[in-house]
Amino acid sequence: MLERDGQRVSVKARHGVVLASGGFPHNLERRKETYPHVKAGHGHFSPTPQTNVGDGTRMAEEVGGVFDKTLSNAAAWTPMSLVPRKDGTTGIMPHFIDRAKPGVIAVSLDGKRFANEANSYHDLVQAMIAASKGKPETACWLIADHAAIRHYGLGFVKPFPMPLGPHLRNGYLKRGKMIEDLAKQIGVDPATLAATVRQYNETAQYGRDPEFGRGSKAYNRYQGDALHTPNPCVAPLANGPFYALKLVPGDLGSFMGIRTNEHAQVVSRDGDPIPGLYAAGNDAASIMGGEYNGAGITLGPGLTFGYVAGNHIADHVQATPPKASAAAREPLAMH
Ligand SMILES: Cc1cc2nc3c(=O)[nH]c(=O)nc-3n(C[C@H](O)[C@H](O)[C@H](O)COP(=O)(O)OP(=O)(O)OC[C@H]3O[C@@H](n4cnc5c(N)ncnc54)[C@H](O)[C@@H]3O)c2cc1C
Repeated sequence: MLERDGQRVSVKARHGVVLASGGFPHNLERRKETYPHVKAGHGHFSPTPQTNVGDGTRMAEEVGGVFDKTLSNAAAWTPMSLVPRKDGTTGIMPHFIDRAKPGVIAVSLDGKRFANEANSYHDLVQAMIAASKGKPETACWLIADHAAIRHYGLGFVKPFPMPLGPHLRNGYLKRGKMIEDLAKQIGVDPATLAATVRQYNETAQYGRDPEFGRGSKAYNRYQGDALHTPNPCVAPLANGPFYALKLVPGDLGSFMGIRTNEHAQVVSRDGDPIPGLYAAGNDAASIMGGEYNGAGITLGPGLTFGYVAGNHIADHVQATPPKASAAAREPLAMH
């Protein structure tokens, strides 16, 4: 039984049902159950469709399917910034690439670096969650010098010649003439932030980051600036004014989900397929086990297992043709 435009509609599926409702990124109960920072009472911000509330998972569980919580991470984490809009609403901006640019670093709420900022968004948020343990919120700050923000932009802030003023006025972006001034603006101890930047700059001028190894991986360098030498990801934060914007945890989709087998069939707790029931996309628990191994980590498996499910259903139909009346052979029988 489906509900469409307020009407209840009965649909007969002759060969199989594929659950593909996009996982549970907007299911607040499931977030509390599986997101470590939400369990700690902290915020989470997802730009995924608001409709994705885990309906597929719920329906699978109702007929004996299993919500697989054994994955290392519940979702594909991504750092977000919150963009104030003129109409009073807030946009959610994913930070994929800016973190890896030369002249940009990330610091914890204590004003200390805590990760290789050029690593994947999924890795950075895990480090942010760890660095925010015991703090009133899960968050960190992206810090850039003037040259970097004008050359590359930062989050929703576009590069020169687009103006910085609107972002400074609505509070999205903070600015300080000196690092210590900036620290005061963002509620971080000025001496600590100044020491962090000083320490980073000492080796950054030679393109090195001995503390976290920015630019040491092909993934890092790909997101950096190929024209910046010797390290596409590393430059000192040299001249003010300096800028900061806050990053908070978000996701691109959930990783945990319905347990399936190699045919995309939903399986019960003892591993037996539930006849005729399939799951694909983020409704299915990610075959990547909760890790980000590279680009396409959700779309790739989504496409693949949608195709696998379709093939399995078609193969099954060929093996056992349905014994149905002419009326039931209509594509969808709705009452
Ligand atoms: C900004 C951004 C960038 C991304 N970049 C990448 C990338 O580069 N590579 C990558 O692999 N992935 C990326 N992703 C993730 C990827 O887009 C998603 O993981 C993917 O779209 C999920 O596909 P899906 O079919 O499971 O869900 P969706 O595409 O969300 O589709 C689910 C659909 O089901 C509908 N629905 C939900 N509940 C019901 C219901 N009860 N009844 C009827 N319909 C329902 C929803 O409205 C939605 O239309 C990105 C995501 C975002 C937000």
